[in-house]
Amino acid sequence: MPENDHLHRRGLMFILSSPSGAGKTTISHRLLTADDEIELSVSATTRPKREGEVDGVDYHFVSESQFDRMVDEDDFYEWAHVFGHRYGTPKGYIRKGLKEGRDFLFDIDWQGTQQLKQKDDQDVVTVFILPPSLPELRRRLESRATDSADVIDGRMNRARDEISHWAEYDYVVVNDDVDECFVKVREILHAERMRRTRQTGLIPFVRQLME
Ligand code: 5GP
Repeated sequence: MPENDHLHRRGLMFILSSPSGAGKTTISHRLLTADDEIELSVSATTRPKREGEVDGVDYHFVSESQFDRMVDEDDFYEWAHVFGHRYGTPKGYIRKGLKEGRDFLFDIDWQGTQQLKQKDDQDVVTVFILPPSLPELRRRLESRATDSADVIDGRMNRARDEISHWAEYDYVVVNDDVDECFVKVREILHAERMRRTRQTGLIPFVRQLME
């Protein structure tokens, strides 16, 4: 048996959800920088590109008709309407990566999370990040200074809606302090990798161990 073959495992789909402003993007970036074994699942979206975003890195930016075609061809693990646009997770690349033992980070909302769990409960690990309070969430949204008061009100309404789904998640972390929150999320990822059912290389390894 090749050295370290017993370490072989299936990859996992690590889903982070939270209302916007709760710190999900910061935690995602830190996780992707700190951990070589996980990469971002790049979604397709019909929403226009924002300044600084790169096609193929932040999202695959597609037209309405391209999105329709992807739906018709069953290219998505899941897709949903969010803020008046469509977002979806393309599946081909991820299926292959999971088999090869790579992990994927998903920044998707509760609708996408439910769909992914229904399709593939074994590989999916879900984490919900809660803000410490709603006034603090509003303060964080306002401090970004990128959105108008109306947009912030809309995000606060949506935040309540998103938070109402917290109990559908495997893990819940309150983001009082972003450093502590990051450490907790990383610990969840590390522990989930060690799940016996994910470590497919263990069976031949233990058999050999017992010979
Ligand atoms: P934004 O437009 O700010 O990048 O994202 C808006 C929302 O869409 C976020 O809550 C994000 O989690 C969600 N989202 C991004 N990609 C996907 C996806 O592929 N599927 C689903 N269901 N939601 C997504």
